[in-house]
Amino acid sequence: MSAVLHSALIDELVSIVGPAHVCCDEPTRELASSDLFLWSGAVLADAVVRPGSTAELAQVMAVLARSGTAIVPRGAGLSYTAGAVPHSAAVVIDSLRLNQVTVHADDLYAVVGAGTSWQALAEALKPHGLRAAQISPISGSHSTIGGAASQNLPGGLDNIIGLTVVLADGSVVHTGSAARVGASAFARYAGPDLTGLFLGDCGAFGFKAEVVVRLTVEREAAFASFSFQSADTMMAALVCLRRRELVTRAMSMDQLKAQSATRVDVAEAVSVVKAVVKEAGSMGRAFKDLAQLATGRSAVKDAGWSLHLTVEAATETLAQGQMDLARAVCGVDGLEINNMIPKTLRAKPYSIRGLVGPDGERWVPVHAILPLSRAEACMRALQAKLASEGAVMAAAGIQHSWIISTIGAYVTIEPMFYWPDQLDAIHLAHLSERNQTRFGQGSLNAGARELLTRLRAELRDVMREHDAVHGQMGRFYPYLPLLDSATQSLVLRIKDALDPARTMNPGVLGLI
Ligand SMILES: Cc1cc2nc3c(=O)[nH]c(=O)nc-3n(C[C@H](O)[C@H](O)[C@H](O)COP(=O)(O)OP(=O)(O)OC[C@H]3O[C@@H](n4cnc5c(N)ncnc54)[C@H](O)[C@@H]3O)c2cc1C
Repeated sequence: MSAVLHSALIDELVSIVGPAHVCCDEPTRELASSDLFLWSGAVLADAVVRPGSTAELAQVMAVLARSGTAIVPRGAGLSYTAGAVPHSAAVVIDSLRLNQVTVHADDLYAVVGAGTSWQALAEALKPHGLRAAQISPISGSHSTIGGAASQNLPGGLDNIIGLTVVLADGSVVHTGSAARVGASAFARYAGPDLTGLFLGDCGAFGFKAEVVVRLTVEREAAFASFSFQSADTMMAALVCLRRRELVTRAMSMDQLKAQSATRVDVAEAVSVVKAVVKEAGSMGRAFKDLAQLATGRSAVKDAGWSLHLTVEAATETLAQGQMDLARAVCGVDGLEINNMIPKTLRAKPYSIRGLVGPDGERWVPVHAILPLSRAEACMRALQAKLASEGAVMAAAGIQHSWIISTIGAYVTIEPMFYWPDQLDAIHLAHLSERNQTRFGQGSLNAGARELLTRLRAELRDVMREHDAVHGQMGRFYPYLPLLDSATQSLVLRIKDALDPARTMNPGVLGLI
């Protein structure tokens, strides 16, 4: 029984979802209130409720609205901007039981429960020879479609074409073509784009119960990787590739990141090998790929900056032809190396191994999504800032590495930090038993926590000077204060209309 919630309210919630799905015990509340980073204003959820259908979710939200209880929506909780962390008394509603998938293969869309993981969706689509056209996060082995739809992704959410949303008062609304009574969900644009209103809202406007995802066919791919001496030359090649639209995706890492990415434990190595063999399609090609996996690590580890390219097309010949154009761009300053990284990423796109560092260090990134014309200068400014903090970071045991990527007309720069520290329940919940034992005994590193809190905020300011936008806004990246006054007023009026009592995830996007 929750020490905070009235027992009559708990009884009402139990009568809707059943006793197993209303949790008031402290370990469950702690896990459901956690984040990969640390937030001084965080408080424990009063209770955790797990509805199993849109109807149950609507009833739960109506009951909570009548009692004036605030709600924090939560998917897998694998973010690091406090979006799913209560900062005042609230009930966490966890989406993980909203996991039904209905595939409409002929019309190339699927209606997906918001708590479905990207990997579960991929598995449901495989028998149809289809995949989500929507870009998805690497954490998709666990993270949810509703979470990504609520906090945006570098590359955007254009392939989310409709939603079923439960509003703060428990009413159920549909967006896209399914908003017409009894009609199908095949199109996003059928009047004003109400889907866009709820995308990236961090749960401030409503709770997504279902997400309609555009589907596409599996395509053939070509892969290539290059090493560069400096971030400058790598970034110049990356921006050129994007401006000429030569690659489907490009991802670069510095040497430290490459070293940790290629340092996998036995279980992870086995699952990578299995995925690569499955993707190869023929025994001959599988043997070739395995030999390459075995020899590929040192080439990637030795590169100052490695750049990994994937081109997708209807046939392999078309993909290879386009990759040859990309080779000419990268060949100016780069050296072609073993392409095991992009090949592995395609064969096994999802993993949360990076949740902690290779020796169990805590990990946290901060990111900027930049216009192509600003990426090179922003990178230099971020490098200079981190160089100026090098001595204090080293004293606190903090290391940093980089991932730079592009899937659309922008560049994402993501400095990431690793430091020895105590792990929290959210980390331990996702580690193997062996790694729980190996990494679970770290002692609290208060100096590193304090330094990183300051440093992340200062890096965010540097990013803003270069016109950066951000996904995963939560309570960390500013939104409302950056808007002009007329637009601010519009957003506040929308919030008032959808959530007049201000009970939907108070504090995200700066909306109290
Ligand atoms: C190893 C690792 C790799 C990662 N890789 C990437 C990456 O490649 N790209 C990337 O963008 N991010 C990445 N992330 C960050 C994070 O996992 C993703 O952003 C992911 O989309 C978060 O989904 P989630 O289900 O964990 O959402 P949560 O963290 O649970 O929630 C995120 C936000 O959405 C809201 N929310 C959740 N569900 C709903 C709902 N149904 N209705 C309304 N609001 C809701 C929450 O209130 C919160 O504000 C990574 C994280 C890890 C640990």
